Amino acid sequence: MAKKFNPIIRMCISCRARHRQNELLRIKCNESSLEIFDGNGRTFYLCDSCLLDEKKLSRALMRQCKSGDKEKLMNKLKEIITDDR
Ligand SMILES: [Zn+2]
Repeated sequence: MAKKFNPIIRMCISCRARHRQNELLRIKCNESSLEIFDGNGRTFYLCDSCLLDEKKLSRALMRQCKSGDKEKLMNKLKEIITDDR
């Protein structure tokens, strides 16, 4: 009998939709800035469609990072996305 594949499901912080972990971008917040997940700290996830919706995205990021510096967060996020792909 085939072994059942059991994907890890995580929630996107922006739209709150659930996706497989490997389909989400995993980032963390450090000192009011964003970083790619490096093995420690509190992380959160973003789905591909939210990455295209800057307005919604920036609000979710500010909430997660408890930061009002939208510009800084969005610039950092773009850096992370570019590095990652
Ligand atoms: Zn989303």
